Amino acid sequence: MDWAKGSDAARGARACSQPQTAADPGMGPGVLDVEGYRGLLRSSEDALDAVDRALVQLDEGSYGTCTECGLAIDDARLEADPTLQQCARHDAAATDAPLTP
Ligand SMILES: [Zn+2]
Repeated sequence: MDWAKGSDAARGARACSQPQTAADPGMGPGVLDVEGYRGLLRSSEDALDAVDRALVQLDEGSYGTCTECGLAIDDARLEADPTLQQCARHDAAATDAPLTP
């Protein structure tokens, strides 16, 4: 039956003409699974929360001061991460990183 062959050919043509994956050709399907996307979502939400905290501190006039000791956070550190909440000493203590001299 010619109509069936034609139909199969049409289906094949449609399948071949479907666009390949994603806008970024380097990111094929399966690069990020559901957990990967959840992790991205969580980190994005954390970043937004940090920005919200910083904005509240700006309104309150406490922006740039350590939430633990109240001392000013170094300008260089704030420039690197404007959402910092703690001075180098307390931030290092919280993350168990070695203290900088
Ligand atoms: Zn501190």
